[in-house]
Amino acid sequence: MILSIVEHRDGKIDEISFELLSLAKKLNQKLSSRIAAVIFSDQAKALAETIAKKAIDEVITIEAPELKTYSPNLYAAALKKLIAEKKPKAILFPYTPFGSDLSPKIAASLKVGLVSSCSDIEFNGDKPIFIKPVYNGKLRAKIALDSSPLMVSMERGAFPKLEEQGQAAIHAFACDLSPVKSRYRSMGLKEAPKTAVDLTKAKRIVSGGRGVGKKENFQIIKDLAKALSADYGASRPVVDNEWVERERQVGSSGKVVTPDLYIACGISGAIQHLAGMKKSSVIVAINKDAEAPIFGVATYGIVGDLFKVIPAM
Ligand code: FAD
Repeated sequence: MILSIVEHRDGKIDEISFELLSLAKKLNQKLSSRIAAVIFSDQAKALAETIAKKAIDEVITIEAPELKTYSPNLYAAALKKLIAEKKPKAILFPYTPFGSDLSPKIAASLKVGLVSSCSDIEFNGDKPIFIKPVYNGKLRAKIALDSSPLMVSMERGAFPKLEEQGQAAIHAFACDLSPVKSRYRSMGLKEAPKTAVDLTKAKRIVSGGRGVGKKENFQIIKDLAKALSADYGASRPVVDNEWVERERQVGSSGKVVTPDLYIACGISGAIQHLAGMKKSSVIVAINKDAEAPIFGVATYGIVGDLFKVIPAM
């Protein structure tokens, strides 16, 4: 069995959970096992019915009042019980704050390996080889796990959402969590204050990356945005360097945007940036390095110095 852990909030399944099912499907081409989505919740019914419509074998719900919000000890205890009973061949987690917290706890307690932030998979014969970006996405590490169960956490946007429909059986897994002591209690989740910037609604975005060089130079990105009646965004290093506000960060740990037009200037195209913009209708990339990965997703590519190309545009 392959266990695929479902992430959800406020009664809505996070889309990464459907992407994770695509990884499960791919892995199952060689494992030839059953795929089960696992939901922890205080009210799992509606969530289970939604995910049961996908082409998987089973949905396992672990329902308890204590599981209303994420609590490391309680979730880990429940999952360990499920693993002990089902003896899965693989366990897949979303590479989100939730999955990144839970997966190493489980891997450490089972004394098995874990590939975190996996972005792709290939096979060497029947052996799965997990691929993850390293050195800021400049290299791809290929990792074979020699322990069992296989444990992987997957990057957001690495696989398409599983669209194939089906009718999976829903099973409740009974689990008494009352003896488990939680080391901390969630006080609830508070939404970040809304700001004037909302790139998710922008029709056109001009984004600048580290290639812009310094804060003062970012004006050239703003100027192009203004000329095109567009909004402006940025890659993470630009935000980390405080050249622009954090709300303008595009990518897996920023905003996921889908404008009609996205112009990436001096952005290399690391997987975390692509996760936030690759579904834009038309992508224009300006980069002086013809080998930059951004050209792999670009509709139009301009190899050149952004300080010459943008004024010409
Ligand atoms: P670089 O990779 O340094 O690329 C700069 C590019 O500019 C190069 O391709 C260079 O050829 C080009 N260039 C230089 N000078 C010029 C010039 N004069 N004219 C034209 N081109 C020029 N990144 C994000 O963007 N968003 C995220 O949400 C995000 N989340 C992350 C989450 C995690 C957990 C991790 C580990 C990383 C995350 N990152 C994110 C960082 C990501 O891995 C990359 O490091 C980042 O996207 C690189 O930004 P960049 O392309 O601007 O810089």
